[in-house]
Amino acid sequence: MTLLNPQAADALAAALKERDLPGRIRLIEAEVPGRLVFTTSLGIEDQVLTHAIALAKGRTEIVTLDTGRLYPETYDVWAETESAYGIRIRAYAPEREAEERFVAEEGINGFRHSVAARQACCGFRKVEPLGRALAGAAGWLTGLRAGQSANRADTPLAEADEARGLIKINPLADWSRADVDRFVSDNYVPYNVLHDRGFPSIGCAPCTRAIRVGEDERAGRWWWEQASKKECGLHVQVPEGQASGETVAPGREAAAFETTQTSNALEMAR
Ligand code: SF4
Repeated sequence: MTLLNPQAADALAAALKERDLPGRIRLIEAEVPGRLVFTTSLGIEDQVLTHAIALAKGRTEIVTLDTGRLYPETYDVWAETESAYGIRIRAYAPEREAEERFVAEEGINGFRHSVAARQACCGFRKVEPLGRALAGAAGWLTGLRAGQSANRADTPLAEADEARGLIKINPLADWSRADVDRFVSDNYVPYNVLHDRGFPSIGCAPCTRAIRVGEDERAGRWWWEQASKKECGLHVQVPEGQASGETVAPGREAAAFETTQTSNALEMAR
C-alpha cells in the first residue's frame, strides 16, 4: 500500500490517534514500508521521540542537522542522549563550499542582513542537509506539535509529502507542552538545560533567545523578523523539483527585515 496520497495519510493519522506513543511508533514501523528517518533538533519534543524510538529498538533511523552554529548545551545533550540510550545520532553537516561562500560574501553573521540572507543560511545549513538525510526515505518522523505556533496549528499526525515523495509523520502533533514536560519528567528523559532558562524552542545560538512571559513558544527564534516569516524551510511542502532543499541566493537588497519577498520553499518551518 502506498501512503503517498492524502486519504492513506488520513487513515494512518486516524489510526495513530487511537494509540499511545509506544503504540504509535510500533504502528508507524509496521505500516510504513521502506526507510524511516526521524530528524531530531535535540529539542524537548524530539527528546521524547528519541526516547520512544530508542526503546522500541526498531528500524527508525535517528539523525540530526549539525548546522555548526548550535549552542554548546545542545551538543552536550546530544552526547548525553547517545550515552543514555546506547545509540548514535547520525549528523548531517553543511556542504563546506556553500558555507565558505556564504561567510565570504555575507560575513560570519550575515544572516542578519535580510530575510533572504537568513533563509540562504538556513538553506545551506539545514534545508540542503535535510534533503540528503531524507534521500530515499519512505517516512519522515518529526517532533512538530500543533500548539507550538500559529504556523503549526494545523499540523496533522500524518500527511503525504508528495514533493519529497514520502509520508511525513508527526507523532506528537496532538500533544501539549504540558504533555511533553510530564513525559520527560516521568521517564527521566535527558533534555537541553536551556529549556530551564526560558528557551522553549532551541535552534542555532545566534538566532535563538529566551522568551518573555506570555510570548509565543517560538518568539525567541529569529526575533528580529515578522512572525509569519519565522520558519527555516524544513517543514514545507517543497515545490516539485526542489525536494533536495534548494537554497536561496543571499541578497542584501532587502535590508528591511519586514520584507514580504520570501521563497515559497523557505517560508515555513523550524
Ligand atoms: Fe543560519 Fe540562523 Fe538559520 Fe542557523 S538559524 S542556519 S545560524 S540563519
